[in-house]
Amino acid sequence: MPLRIDFVTIFPNMFAPLIAEGVIARGIKNGLLDIRVHDLRDFTTDKHRSTDDEAYGGGPGMVMLAEPVLRCVESIRAEGQGPRAEGGAPEAEAEAGGAEALGPRPSALGPQPHIVMTSPQGRRFDQRVALELVGKQHVVFLCGRYEGFDHRVHEELQPDEISIGDFVVSGGELPAMLMADAMGRLVPGVVGNSGSVEEDSFFRGLLDYPHYTRPVELRGRRIPEILLSGHHENIRKWRKEQALRATLEKRPDLLDSAELDAEAREILRRLAKF
Ligand code: SAH
Repeated sequence: MPLRIDFVTIFPNMFAPLIAEGVIARGIKNGLLDIRVHDLRDFTTDKHRSTDDEAYGGGPGMVMLAEPVLRCVESIRAEGQGPRAEGGAPEAEAEAGGAEALGPRPSALGPQPHIVMTSPQGRRFDQRVALELVGKQHVVFLCGRYEGFDHRVHEELQPDEISIGDFVVSGGELPAMLMADAMGRLVPGVVGNSGSVEEDSFFRGLLDYPHYTRPVELRGRRIPEILLSGHHENIRKWRKEQALRATLEKRPDLLDSAELDAEAREILRRLAKF
């Protein structure tokens, strides 16, 4: 079963590049990722297809309407792990209606999706959260705009609120894509060489070691000789030391919770003496 990620947004076109190019695109092509984008306007109830309105109590800024979001999530839930509805959301909705007409079929609905609300007020996203979300198998990202969602979306869905950091961006689309990218590359097979993901920063709680490619000498700077030695064990040890050194210098806080084996601890003891 591929990792399924749904985006709920008023700007579906923003997701085109994520789906069209790079690692995520390859994951989709290889059947390892199932990514679906839902246009909130397809779930509106008025003739203007409104997705936002003024705030009760006054003040600046518009608020995202709750009803289209709730209808969209209901449609995704009804669709479950079933086949992709060709042509996007309106058909998906029609399909949901059909399922309802036949009465509840919980077994056909499959596992329920994990609802994530992008929000600067959420818990902070990191590699650990990315791994946790991959474990959910089906994640729906709600992308806000303006002042965010009518608070009743929160009350009704009780979503997992997640933030990408202590700053405010103008919409949830970029945060959602960023999280989906971090998740997608953790799915085995999505990144061509799974070993490279395991060596990435944060995978084992450490920063990555430095990388070099051609040429051997660039503007008078040679690459470390050991990388030309062909001695795999020495290169492995050198890289491990470099990863520990980078972490100690740039992010010593990570060492408190990193997975350190006896060799790593020995290297750290040596480095700390310098
Ligand atoms: N008034 C809100 C901010 C709204 S910003 C507040 O101060 O809490 C509009 C939308 O952008 C949000 O609904 C959310 O979807 C997205 N967003 C903004 N900053 C974000 C962050 N740090 N992490 C995740 N999503 C964010």
